Amino acid sequence: MSHTTPHAAPVSNFLRQIIDADLRGDTLKNRSWSGSPGSAAAHAGAQPDPAAIRTRFPPEPNGYLHIGHAKSICLNFGLARDYGGVCHMRFDDTNPEKEEQEYVDAIVDAVKWLGFSWDALPGSAAAPHAAAETASTKNAHPVGAPPANAQARPHLYFASDYFDFMYQAAEYLIGAGHAYIDAQSAGEMRATRGTLTEAGTNSPWRERPAAESLKLFREMRDGLHAEGSLILRAKIDMASPNINLRDPAIYRIRKASHHRTGDKWCVYPMYTYAHPIEDALERITHSICTLEFEAQRPFYNWLLLRLAETTTLPDGRVVGGLLAQPLPHQYEFARLNLTYVVTSKRKLKQLVDENIVNGWDDPRLPTIAGLRRRGYTPEAIQSFCERIGVSKADSWIDYSTLEIALRDDLDTKAARAMAVLDPLKLTLTNWAEVFGNADHAEPCSAPVHPHHPERGQRHFALTDAVWIEREDFMEAPVKGYHRLYPGNKARLKYGYVIECTGCEKDAGGNVTTVLARLIPDTKSGTPGSDSVKVKGVITWVSVRDALSAEVRLYDRLFTDAHPDAGGKDIKTSLNPASLKIIAAYVEPSLASAAPGEKFQFERHGYFVADQVDSTPGALVFNRTVTLKDTWQK
Ligand code: ATP
Ligand code: MG
Repeated sequence: MSHTTPHAAPVSNFLRQIIDADLRGDTLKNRSWSGSPGSAAAHAGAQPDPAAIRTRFPPEPNGYLHIGHAKSICLNFGLARDYGGVCHMRFDDTNPEKEEQEYVDAIVDAVKWLGFSWDALPGSAAAPHAAAETASTKNAHPVGAPPANAQARPHLYFASDYFDFMYQAAEYLIGAGHAYIDAQSAGEMRATRGTLTEAGTNSPWRERPAAESLKLFREMRDGLHAEGSLILRAKIDMASPNINLRDPAIYRIRKASHHRTGDKWCVYPMYTYAHPIEDALERITHSICTLEFEAQRPFYNWLLLRLAETTTLPDGRVVGGLLAQPLPHQYEFARLNLTYVVTSKRKLKQLVDENIVNGWDDPRLPTIAGLRRRGYTPEAIQSFCERIGVSKADSWIDYSTLEIALRDDLDTKAARAMAVLDPLKLTLTNWAEVFGNADHAEPCSAPVHPHHPERGQRHFALTDAVWIEREDFMEAPVKGYHRLYPGNKARLKYGYVIECTGCEKDAGGNVTTVLARLIPDTKSGTPGSDSVKVKGVITWVSVRDALSAEVRLYDRLFTDAHPDAGGKDIKTSLNPASLKIIAAYVEPSLASAAPGEKFQFERHGYFVADQVDSTPGALVFNRTVTLKDTWQK
């Protein structure tokens, strides 16, 4: 998180209220779990400590991050920043088949670009990683307190670093009678799980002796059993009204290479088992996730309590206490649903894999990489996330909300420039007569930014021929049209008033050149500029110094505001006009446009020099957003 940039006072929300209450010491209300021996009391005894706020952002590296993740990132890193705590960047990499290093790298990139960091603060001695935070088989004991200087070390974590601990914890659960190896097939397990209204039925293997389950679990680990033949299940209650408590699977056989642990394991923990353990090992205080995990919370709590408590074995030995109190608590908030896009890594991957878009950073995608390439700024995305707020009620946010946040940010930042996207030539027929020389170039200038005079001026020349927009000329004008038509006057922006005299056409009757006369002594910025009143102002670039540029006009990828609602096939609502590539002319000040640099093309919208394809000799601009909303009816 940025510790140096000042941040506007955050808008409160239910999570901030919970944290405020926790920090006031009013923790019993939020932390007491029914049936949790001692945990609430243990927490109540803890000193309020602002630095003890620990959140985490836990993506699975199975794709690129999208705008929905940005909401979670801004929330988790934002809470840590505002409460002087820490947010852990944690890869939830428990599913070897779908995860890749490319995705890890892309996720790191995206979160850093958004403006958040988990690096140690410069100057603070990097404390050795506390054993607490790198639990291993040998260190399977209660975790320690967070380091005093919360940001004295980088906070980057991988769930796969805890595989040893998770495995040991599973052996412990078996030994304590809280888990067993089931030999039912996946289909049998589904069939015996019951329904929302009917209880499930116990597996025939549910009461097998712990020693037998332990032996089988070790054989699974050693690769002696086929995928799907055996599975480790928590032993909770097949009649629970909450289906998630009907003996959920916690460890399964997967003979797959993992992007970090290689072939070390052929058993992998289920997400629902791994996630609470990750939170507890890292001493997360507020584990914030989306609402669909609400029904998982009882299992989250059940598991952590089982691992934290101790058990006295028949031989008198006391075992357990694998996790220290206080335990983390899960809180749910409503996910971001944004119209006209899909926010699911799986569906985004489908668009990429089927070449419907050009890679994960295609500017039409709501991926962080795509938004960035489209010309979005981190500030705009952060401000969007602030504006939409955090609540527990599911809702849809209109895509225009994101665009409004973007325009607000770009308006204050983007340098202005003129560009002609649909060029038509205009010739000033009295040029030599006015300036005494057909080759005369009349210097013109305009502010780089209208509200920031300190940013200086752009310079360009007016010559006897300029490019104008085709729509700026009409041979037979419609009512209310104030631009160029024979007999009408309009201003060439930052230049002179001109009067249209006619046009030239090709054999097909298409207008090829507009003809006009320049009216002397009307130059912008001179005393005579007001001598002729006009209603139309026209943007242009001179034919002589215009630069050619490829311009990519992006539009929404889907025509349906809810492309995947109700299980719809997203391919049925693809917008065939989501990308239009045109040849445009832009003013000479753009010759040095750096990849990623943002501009407002006057009257057309905001554009960015494409970060991948644009070079000074071959300019490519992406339209980021139009100046006005063209979508809301
Ligand atoms: P996807 O379906 O796109 O893969 P996910 O939730 O499975 O999403 P994770 O990598 O597990 O993806 O997500 C990391 C974090 O981001 C989680 O805490 C998750 O709740 C949060 N998150 C994902 N999608 C959204 C969303 N649309 N709005 C808010 N938070 C989200
Ligand atoms: Mg997912």
